[in-house]
Order: sequence, then C-alpha cells, then structure tokens
Amino acid sequence: MAHPIIAPRTAAPRTIPAPVAIPVREWLPWAAFVGILALALLYIVGLEQGATQIFHGEWVHEWVHDARHVLGFPCH
Ligand SMILES: [Zn+2]
Repeated sequence: MAHPIIAPRTAAPRTIPAPVAIPVREWLPWAAFVGILALALLYIVGLEQGATQIFHGEWVHEWVHDARHVLGFPCH
C-alpha cells in the first residue's frame, strides 16, 4: 500500500481557546429539566402499565413492550 507524501508541519504557534464559564444559574434549570424528562421517559418505557399504571388501557405497554425487553426490564 502506497503512502501519500505528507508535507512536514511547520511549527506554527497554536492558540488554545479559553474555556467559557457558564454560570450555574443558567445551566442548572436545564439540567433539572433534562433529568426530569429522562426519568419520565425511563418510567414510561420501563414501568408504566407494568408494575404501576398512570394511563388507562394497555396502549403504553403495547407501544414500548419490545423496548422493555431489549432494555432488560421485566415485563410479563
Ligand atoms: Zn409486555
């Protein structure tokens, strides 16, 4: 396998970007929102209409049944 000719790099000075400081009060509400959303999704996919039930019927179970088995949640 032929290797391409690579031009030698010149020692150009690199500037390292300074990290941007994001105040906690700006990202904490988003972190809480995403965390609550993730827990709600985990509950719906893993537990709803299985051990516990918020919604009537079996449509959530039918909708997420295969995902439960793939993710290892006990279903039935
Ligand atoms: Zn099931």
